[in-house]
Amino acid sequence: MEGAPLFLVFLGAPGAGKGTQARLLSEKLGIPQVSTGDIFRENLNKGTKLGLLAKGYMEKGELVPDEITVAMVKERLSRPDCARGAILDGFPRTIAQAEALDRILAEKGASLTAVPYIKVSEEVLLARLSGRWICRNCGAVYHMIYNPPKVPGICDICGGELYQREDDKPEVAKNRLKVYFEQTAPLIEYYKRRGLLVEVNGEQSIEKVQEDLEAIIESHDCP
Ligand code: AMP
Repeated sequence: MEGAPLFLVFLGAPGAGKGTQARLLSEKLGIPQVSTGDIFRENLNKGTKLGLLAKGYMEKGELVPDEITVAMVKERLSRPDCARGAILDGFPRTIAQAEALDRILAEKGASLTAVPYIKVSEEVLLARLSGRWICRNCGAVYHMIYNPPKVPGICDICGGELYQREDDKPEVAKNRLKVYFEQTAPLIEYYKRRGLLVEVNGEQSIEKVQEDLEAIIESHDCP
């Protein structure tokens, strides 16, 4: 018999490793990674109306307004590939978004399974953001020092070209961290109160963080 759908929220600051970990776990569990940052970037690259709406906020490291973001996530979670669940990466980022997510899931007859919080100190976050390179083709994430590609500038997985995100440059990265501490960090308490938060030490190796996440999934008796 099919178990209940598995909806996870990966909480953590920019640079905590949410994207890297969500991608790995998504492959193992066969449920999609839903990254609001990736969806905005795709729309920006394609020049869609949504991309144009998000552009100004993203360039400054500010949050895109809740209404726009929530509508986008609602549409994404309504697609058939999310029937067995999804790993949300970069959403919710405000209490209002978290409340909206509860409503979206309730309408589907589902609820959140767990909220792994990938904890990393502020100094490490800034160092990680400044060395981050991303594949233009498949979105894989590298770090010049901690996780370099085999050939500089080329993705190990698909051979695509690697680039540095504009919003990873120091001034914008600092503002993104400020916005995180002001607007997103309150979600730690929000999910703790609801008994959903599980803290993971995000300063360990990529493999060890992944193992800890898998242990969380197992302990929740997930499919
Ligand atoms: P990320 O790739 O998650 O770091 O997101 C990059 C940028 O996209 C953020 O700095 C925001 O401008 C925007 N963004 C991504 N997710 C959200 C969200 N849940 N709410 C509002 N803005 C978001």
